[in-house]
Amino acid sequence: MKYDVTVIGSGPGGYVAAIRCAQLGMKTAIIERYDTLGGTCLNVGCIPSKALLDSSEHFHAAQERFAEHGIDLRDLKVNMPQMIKRKNEVVDQNVKGIDFLMKKNKIEVHHGHASFVDKHTIKVVQSEGSEKTIETDKVIIATGSKPIVPEDWNYDKKRVITSTEALNIEAVPKRMVVVGGGVIGLEMGSVFARLGTQVEVVEYMDRVLPGMDKDCGRELMRSMKKMGVQFHLKHMVTKVKVNKKSATVTVQKRDSEEEPFTINADYCLVAIGRRPYTHGLGLDKVGIELDDKGRIPVDEHLQTSVEGIYAIGDVIRGAMLAHKAEEEGVFAAEVLAGQKPHIEYNHIPNVVYTWPEVAGVGKTEEQLKEEGIPYKVGKFPYKALGRARASMDVDGLVKVISHKATDEILGVHMVGARTADMIAEAVALMEFRASAEDAARMSHAHPTYTEAMKEAALAATADRAIHI
Ligand code: FAD
Ligand code: NAD
Repeated sequence: MKYDVTVIGSGPGGYVAAIRCAQLGMKTAIIERYDTLGGTCLNVGCIPSKALLDSSEHFHAAQERFAEHGIDLRDLKVNMPQMIKRKNEVVDQNVKGIDFLMKKNKIEVHHGHASFVDKHTIKVVQSEGSEKTIETDKVIIATGSKPIVPEDWNYDKKRVITSTEALNIEAVPKRMVVVGGGVIGLEMGSVFARLGTQVEVVEYMDRVLPGMDKDCGRELMRSMKKMGVQFHLKHMVTKVKVNKKSATVTVQKRDSEEEPFTINADYCLVAIGRRPYTHGLGLDKVGIELDDKGRIPVDEHLQTSVEGIYAIGDVIRGAMLAHKAEEEGVFAAEVLAGQKPHIEYNHIPNVVYTWPEVAGVGKTEEQLKEEGIPYKVGKFPYKALGRARASMDVDGLVKVISHKATDEILGVHMVGARTADMIAEAVALMEFRASAEDAARMSHAHPTYTEAMKEAALAATADRAIHI
């Protein structure tokens, strides 16, 4: 078997790269070590977590808000096995969709663990132990990432778990400790809190979502507290013990003499980040060395230190996001075809699918301060929106940051209902280097949540929001 290009890994980076290579006329192969295609995102990441977020949000709304809407529901209860079954069906439909796309684009799929023999030869070991060899001109590595769990935290996958196991819990837990107030901690923490679990989040920093806008993190934390979630900020976990049916977590306040305390919970969900995955890939056979964070170093063309071998997605530098991996998949394929593609990394949005949702693109105020760039800020709260009052989704705000002198939009940060979808407007505006005034003069349908974007842009322009 001889290919123009072989892609290792079938997540959103790998399968998109393979499709673009095929579109550009390359004879393409993709290798995936698991039975299903789609990688972390489709199997144990974006898609299943959003399925459970939607199901749990329906339950929570029915329980907490339907009565006020004038809808009486009696004997409401959670059917967790059905919730998991539906989630599995959603995953199944999505991974089958990738099978279809591979066939449609005549991409040859090889299941098995791939490792380099040399830069043009890849060995594929199948689960039953048989192996085959693939000859290829070019390679795109898209092997993704795995959760980080400290070695002495007794990760038994039963009581001490990561997001992968949390997606398959079949009975609503009474109590759960979530270590890490980042994206996974808050998304998965929300799922269980909505279903009735007492959730406690232990976060090392002084705020949740430390990489995102400070106001948005604060607003989300306020909403999650109303749901009953407890937060231990500036705390760290020092010990995790597994019992027969629970986990005991020792928590210590950072930089403090305070005595540590313990929390005994049905589950300890570890969500403290992910690390690039290159295990058994044979990088030494081709002379690729990892950086200090275990990532594959790449140049501005996403080429590794070895000519003809490229790397994309979670396994290289940058945000660990499916849509970032996808952009890089297209980019690498187009570079291979001799084109000159471009990715504007500053315009890749970040979204947290809690309720309210959090979304941001561009620079935060903190980053602009650090870089010494003069800016102005316009904010508009959801509670002043007619649409938000109608739907009872009054928690939230939109913040538009523009350059103090030129008014160019430098960042947009939002928390509130449907901001995951609304952020696309901000991305488009920034791609076209719009000013806050441009955004403020665009007509936004009434009544919609998007009016908060217009009003925040008006506020950024010259403090001239209309409805506040
Ligand atoms: P992956 O999706 O990790 O795919 C890598 C693939 O390579 C895997 O299938 C793996 O089996 C395979 N592989 C590895 N080594 C080999 C080998 N040697 N041989 C053969 N195959 C190999 N991102 C978002 O943008 N939005 C979200 O809502 C979102 N939600 C998430 C929720 C959770 C719970 C998690 C864990 C992640 C979430 N992410 C989300 C992150 C997103 O899943 C990743 O950024 C994305 O999957 C990275 O894509 P990738 O192609 O680089 O790698
Ligand atoms: P994260 O980096 O988002 O959050 C980890 C959090 O854990 C941080 O707030 C960090 O300060 C904290 N932390 C680290 N060590 C700690 C410790 N010892 N004790 C207490 N707190 C500690 O990582 P994650 O939530 O695990 O997610 C991993 C990756 O997956 C992220 O990079 C994210 O981009 C991606 N992801 C994205 C989405 C999405 O786009 N909606 C959803 C899930 C995951």
